[in-house]
Amino acid sequence: MPRDTVSEPAEPRGFEILGVRINRESMDSALDWIEARAVGGGRHTAQFVNAHCLNLAHQHRTYARVLARADRVFADGSGIRLACGILGLERPDNVNGTDMLPLLCERAAAKGLRLYFLGGAPSVACYAAQELTRRYPGLQVVGNSHGYFSPDTDERVCDDINRSRADIVLVGMGAPRQEMWIDTNRQRIDAALVMGVGGLFDFYSGRIPRAPLWMRRTGTEWCWRLAQEPARMWRRYVLGNPLFVARVVKDRLDRRVEERARERLLNRYDRPFALTMHRLPS
Ligand code: UDP
Repeated sequence: MPRDTVSEPAEPRGFEILGVRINRESMDSALDWIEARAVGGGRHTAQFVNAHCLNLAHQHRTYARVLARADRVFADGSGIRLACGILGLERPDNVNGTDMLPLLCERAAAKGLRLYFLGGAPSVACYAAQELTRRYPGLQVVGNSHGYFSPDTDERVCDDINRSRADIVLVGMGAPRQEMWIDTNRQRIDAALVMGVGGLFDFYSGRIPRAPLWMRRTGTEWCWRLAQEPARMWRRYVLGNPLFVARVVKDRLDRRVEERARERLLNRYDRPFALTMHRLPS
């Protein structure tokens, strides 16, 4: 298998929203990291978080802890950029799984990295694999499985992944199920990298059409998804989006209160120290 060594990408900076640490990556640096992990072996995990995931993490500590254990957490979607704006943080690039997948397939085909697709309704991951191998000649999707199974079947699914000798496993079972599944089963899976990717097999299999480019560019893709699956998505977007903004605004106010308290404390205790320093002989 033709595999070049890749230079180790530098550690990226990170930031925190609603208690979740997120890596500040560009799409290219995220792909470099993925490639380096896949080539280098070991056992790594990467997750994508959007506003919905951060709402879930705010409500469920177990899920927040699972995200904290991931080796990389990528900033997915306009909600994270909006939150950074509110918090006065530099806005990160939108590193989402759906835009990443074609780029990842291109690299995997060039480097001989093997992919495994896990998730979606029966046949969806298989159709996505067929479509992507047609688009990217040389791409090896060495196995696939649907994502509707009980925990009794976990071991069988992990065995199938290991038999395929995949380097990267993409798990698309929706949040928080996929992240929890990865966390529970990570040690059983030999692949160097396991990533939670959401509903993207639905898009690449053609089961659900993706939003037009202008909606993706303007950060309104969520309106498209809401229109397509209103019964499933209304809670996530109609209730979830305002709730997310309200939580971030509260976080901003809390941070301000904390900053002021810290300044007051420093002013109170730093002054004598500053005077002492001033009197020291040069
Ligand atoms: N899914 C699955 N197993 C389950 C529940 C859901 O494989 O037990 C799949 C579902 O078929 C869909 C994806 O998980 O393909 C969830 O998509 P969603 O749009 O919720 O994901 P997002 O990208 O928004 O996280």
